Amino acid sequence: MSRPILATIDLPSLRHNLARVRVLAGQARVFAVVKADAYGHGLRRILPALMPADGLALLDLTDAEYARGAGYGGRILLLEGAFDAEDCRVAARLGLDVVVHCDEQLAALDALPGGAQVGVFLKLNSGMNRLGFREAEFRRARERLDGHRAVRSLTLMTHFAGADESLGVDAQRERFARAAEGFSGPVSLANSAALIAYPDTRGAWVRPGIVLYGATPFADRSAASLGVQPVMTLSSRVIAVQCVEAGGHVGYGQTFTARQAMRVGVVACGYADGYPRHAPTGTPVIVDGIRTRTVGRVSMDMITVDLTPCPAAGVGTTVELWGARLPVDEVARPAGTVGYELLCALAPRVPVAVSDVADCASGAG
Ligand SMILES: *Cc1c(COP(=O)(O)O)cnc(C)c1O
Repeated sequence: MSRPILATIDLPSLRHNLARVRVLAGQARVFAVVKADAYGHGLRRILPALMPADGLALLDLTDAEYARGAGYGGRILLLEGAFDAEDCRVAARLGLDVVVHCDEQLAALDALPGGAQVGVFLKLNSGMNRLGFREAEFRRARERLDGHRAVRSLTLMTHFAGADESLGVDAQRERFARAAEGFSGPVSLANSAALIAYPDTRGAWVRPGIVLYGATPFADRSAASLGVQPVMTLSSRVIAVQCVEAGGHVGYGQTFTARQAMRVGVVACGYADGYPRHAPTGTPVIVDGIRTRTVGRVSMDMITVDLTPCPAAGVGTTVELWGARLPVDEVARPAGTVGYELLCALAPRVPVAVSDVADCASGAG
């Protein structure tokens, strides 16, 4: 038997979330954001469920090439644009859309051979100070791209720094409106958080990522309250049980001390699997279908869990680290991070199973 850890990718949930996003998007078209190997879910595994999306947004040409090879005919947007002139030529050959956020990328468009074209998403730095032209340069770039022989279509875009928090989007939205004055073509502003919290920012194209995977971009609104379902479930089993006496310690650094005698389960999942090492004692975990907590430090290959509420649990008992019954966001929060990071950090050593209704021989799906 192999080590019992397993990540299961539930395609019906992904389809459900895409349908939910479509409702939220209204008239806007949907770029399914699949960067970081589809937020750790594996682009190759999930593409079948995303075929109905109007577009895919990603970073790597190789992923774009894969999607085209798999028959994906929708728009494909390179979110960081082309990294050099050669990339730009490949993007044209594959029929891609590219973000253009700097002068070097404008020059790469000028250098495209005659007949080669890309769709351009011209990016305004509206205040995040990450990618994009500042207002004055943005206007100049707009003029330069207007009617450019290498530009198949022009969309104006920006990205919000804080649609997920109390920051709001007002200042950025105003800057964008100013910079887009006189432009009647398509615009794209909204990530998951803006799509939900500021539906008037939807524009022609929305760019949701995290909600497609069934996690939340908000600190104070659960994924379930947004109507989406977890796509990834990380599960494992108890591989040992320790009866710890009162006053006994658990794990590296002896950071946990048992106040009374207790059973502790050792679970085959550690930080080398992608479980956050900073998850403190008390991080929720589901053992034998019962919600309990971690105790002591996360180690490379194992975590230790409190079996007090699960008296029937023993070696072999199933454990859910996050997923269908335990939102990844509830594990991320005590660890001082976000669901995004846990999903993306699923380690290559974890085997992955794809679950789809078509696979359910029992017909129960
Ligand atoms: C990652 C990303 C998104 C998706 O963000 P979510 O918070 O996952 O919805 C949208 N737009 C851009 C430019 C991004 O980099």
